[in-house]
Amino acid sequence: MTTKTQPYRIAVIPGDGIGKEVVPEGVRILEAAAEKFGFRLDLEHHTFGSCDYYAEHGTMLPANWKEILTPTDAIFFGAVGWPATVPDHVSLWGSLLQFRREFDQYVNLRPVRLMPGVPCPLAGREPGDIDFYVVRENTEGEYSSVGGTMYPGTEREIVIQETVMSRHGVDRILKFAFDLAQSRPKKHLTSATKSNGIAITMPYWDQRVEAMGERYPDVRRDKYHIDILTAHFVLNPDRFDVVVGSNLFGDILSDLGPACTGTIGIAPSANINPEGRFPSLFEPVHGSAPDIAGQGIANPVGQIWTAAMMLEHLGEVDAANAIVAAIETALREPASRTRDLKGTATTREAADAVLRAFAAA
Ligand code: ATP
Ligand code: MG
Repeated sequence: MTTKTQPYRIAVIPGDGIGKEVVPEGVRILEAAAEKFGFRLDLEHHTFGSCDYYAEHGTMLPANWKEILTPTDAIFFGAVGWPATVPDHVSLWGSLLQFRREFDQYVNLRPVRLMPGVPCPLAGREPGDIDFYVVRENTEGEYSSVGGTMYPGTEREIVIQETVMSRHGVDRILKFAFDLAQSRPKKHLTSATKSNGIAITMPYWDQRVEAMGERYPDVRRDKYHIDILTAHFVLNPDRFDVVVGSNLFGDILSDLGPACTGTIGIAPSANINPEGRFPSLFEPVHGSAPDIAGQGIANPVGQIWTAAMMLEHLGEVDAANAIVAAIETALREPASRTRDLKGTATTREAADAVLRAFAAA
């Protein structure tokens, strides 16, 4: 039971496509969790951050979006993008990427966990074998706009783009990753590097990992070059507990990880500002899926698991664990699986199954 008396202020932004179908299911589990675990929610529903809003207003967000969202405790996000009407770069840059940047959400966190009932593309793996986190640096590194083109359009053309690593930026992501590893039973941190090929920034990254590691004597640490690390994700995923990477390496690993555990329809993610100066944002890994939108067949589990991640971040750890357990119970039942899991359940039926398991536990 929580001791918090103030309600959590949550901005709910369904966005586009199946976001509008799965977010209401995520909200149902949040409300059930509040009821069961005795905390209160103050949900603020917004239509901005969607292509419908863009069609009406010519922008993805209202001018005062920062004032609206800054006082909230978290943002519960669905998916953005409707390329038939708004180009993806416009919708994405006009919403999600604004939040990430303006709210300094420098941690991108994705659990990688094999769930029952999900066909694992890796042979011979059982639920329980794969259970780790990918922590991606979300603000600097390889994705900088430092660079340019010399002698453009000529035979001598040279294109340069710099990687930027600041001590502040590297240390804060490493601190988050070590804290997470410290909090888990295995207490094991793996760092993604490439210091044999990228001779300036990656040795620096390694050096900061060593320095931060000194402060966490209980955490066992190792490092792999990114190329062999991706191979180990596929061949030995049971080896990992918390894996931390720079912006580019983290990007690759945070897509590869969930792919190793089956469908995109169940995986959650978080964009976190750990100090809580700004709200953090929680969203499923999947996008707006225009190809299946409006049919009521989207898998709601990604959004429901996202709700669990958000509650964990807010400190409602028991509620979060209970939701994840309910997802596992529901997925064991073939009748509660949606089409992406070779089932026939609708979005509503699949969510009902999780809610039933949650209520029964
Ligand atoms: P983004 O642009 O956000 O990176 P995307 O547009 O490339 O993502 P998605 O929208 O995630 O990709 O869809 C990729 C594929 O996965 C589509 O075929 C889609 O139908 C399917 N898919 C995505 N989410 C779900 C879901 N929740 N349930 C079932 N299928 C899904
Ligand atoms: Mg898309």
